[in-house]
Amino acid sequence: MAGRLLGRTAVVTAAGQGIGRASALAFAREGATVVATDVDPAKLAGLDGIAGLSTHRLDVLDPKAITEFAAGTAAPDILFNCAGFVHNGAILDCDEDAFDFSMALNVKAMYRMIRALLPGMIGRGGGAIVNMASVASTVIAAPNRFVYGASKAAVIGMTKSIALDYIGKGIRANAICPGTVDSPSLHDRMAATGDYAAARAAFIARQPMGRLGTAEEIAELVVFLASDESAFMTGNAVVVDGGWTNA
Ligand code: NAD
Repeated sequence: MAGRLLGRTAVVTAAGQGIGRASALAFAREGATVVATDVDPAKLAGLDGIAGLSTHRLDVLDPKAITEFAAGTAAPDILFNCAGFVHNGAILDCDEDAFDFSMALNVKAMYRMIRALLPGMIGRGGGAIVNMASVASTVIAAPNRFVYGASKAAVIGMTKSIALDYIGKGIRANAICPGTVDSPSLHDRMAATGDYAAARAAFIARQPMGRLGTAEEIAELVVFLASDESAFMTGNAVVVDGGWTNA
């Protein structure tokens, strides 16, 4: 069903690897013109030259860079805010710096991206915003995901608020809540435990389907929420988790 995003423009944050990269590629495959951004230009390198894709270094923790990016980029039809970080620990493991970093990257950066691009999206008649949350949020608690879960819950609240306030302006905003997804940072988290095999088994066991999700499976949902196929959906936190929370 290629071509669901023909003629659309899209901006993706954290498109260098994992779900952001898979989504940028899926957008382009569906006919969109995509600006794939990431803080790490080396991770974007392989995307240059793919039809429909251009790349741009963007650190979403840098408010000035976001302002400059918005000023130099035509307002998109689609904004996928994917950047995020997983802090490992309970509240007593989470000092103020760790708390502030996760909130800055997982929440405030998204607020800034939307503030920068929303006026242009409204100006061109509307658009679709997809924000990256997680099942570790309002949906369920995961062990040692204190500030991660708090920050992703904030993403859901922010998404619902934007969906309501701009529903009359043609803006749809939805959040996605993946379970455990195979990505480079997941491998880093498994390695950081010191027992990669045991950590992998534990991460897999969270999904009753008995496997990790793939970035491409999550990208399919992002395409759906960015496309007119989901034209009647806004303000949702859509779960895609291999049965973790609902099966
Ligand atoms: P990842 O963590 O492997 O990659 C993250 C990307 O973000 C990297 O390319 C990195 O360079 C980029 N990045 C980091 N800091 C940045 C910054 N300041 N500005 C711009 N880019 C920056 O990818 P992933 O695991 O697919 O995670 C992507 C998103 O999905 C995150 O928000 C994460 O919380 C969320 N998520 C992941 C999973 C999972 O199991 N992998 C599950 C649920 C939600």
